[in-house]
Amino acid sequence: MADYYDILGVGREASQDEIKKAFRRLARETHPDANPGDPAAEARFRDVAQAYEVLSDPAKRAAYDRGGSFEAGDLFSSFAGIDDLLSRFFGGGGFGFPFGGAQAGPAQGADIGTRVSVTLEEAATGVAREVRFRTSLGCETCGGGGAAPGTALETCERCGGQGSVRVTRQTILGATMAITTCDACRGRGKVVVDPCEDCLGRGSIDGERAIEVEVPAGVGDGARIRIPGRGAAGDAGGRSGDLYVEVGVEPDERFERHGADLVHRVVVGMAEAALGTSREVPVIAGDPVDLDIPAGTQPGSVFKMPRLGMPRLRRRGRGDLLVEVRVAVPERLGPEEEAALREYAEAAGEQPSPPSRRRSRR
Ligand SMILES: [Zn+2]
Ligand SMILES: [Zn+2]
Repeated sequence: MADYYDILGVGREASQDEIKKAFRRLARETHPDANPGDPAAEARFRDVAQAYEVLSDPAKRAAYDRGGSFEAGDLFSSFAGIDDLLSRFFGGGGFGFPFGGAQAGPAQGADIGTRVSVTLEEAATGVAREVRFRTSLGCETCGGGGAAPGTALETCERCGGQGSVRVTRQTILGATMAITTCDACRGRGKVVVDPCEDCLGRGSIDGERAIEVEVPAGVGDGARIRIPGRGAAGDAGGRSGDLYVEVGVEPDERFERHGADLVHRVVVGMAEAALGTSREVPVIAGDPVDLDIPAGTQPGSVFKMPRLGMPRLRRRGRGDLLVEVRVAVPERLGPEEEAALREYAEAAGEQPSPPSRRRSRR
């Protein structure tokens, strides 16, 4: 775990105000919704939130300064936790996306997970992909309200339209008040008197949803894209769940990917390595380029071709293309090749095994 002060980029003497400012800036930069498909941003956001959680609390900060340690709580283990945390600092809706939460109200729709597969080439350029899945959809006949067209919803009698009711509980400390979702209207504050025939008052029907997903350039294998409000429809009046799209990037036999860098391997002959040669090298989402392999290139040499790798996700610039040179030693020599090599060996002062011995090993 990195130092909390380093994570927030503030000094150890930073005031509470400076800490808060640093957090707000970093939270906006690293928020998962600002970086769809970038698991590194999500992890960074958790770190930032955890550092802030400790340093913003004078007692926890003092304990941390004395060398105490803090475990990351469940608060940071899910998107819901992140949203809760953000809604505390940004007052909800600060990023223009809906916040879920534990407030009383109609049940929201379920989140849905799906998967798309893209080639490495598509991951380099970015691509739009349609995903289709079965889920509950808002009913078009009643607009999701659940009431038959031309009829109105009525105010719930039990909660007086509030959607929630106060309940009093007796505890050893006396009576305590709690607010819970009204079960007569399921939190909506209104009830359906004349139900829609298509959805029977539910406000949603089962169907197929087709969503176009923008897979961003530079996406990594296993990245998750969140599309708010595109999951299952909620109860009548409740918000829809979110759609999570996991991106699978297919391997490409020409390249091995290391983050934004790509590794390509070329094979040259012994003489080519010694005398120099050139090779046409593939470029992801681009035209091939010629690579000059100079005389005296050693096996395993790596040539860096700057900025011909993958684009960096949500950032400017690209990684590099690294070309690794392998030198092929012939497994079998024809008579002319062998004669030429023996001549070379003699000139170079090498001492190869004599012909008879080499053949006897077959
Ligand atoms: Zn309906
Ligand atoms: Zn009610």
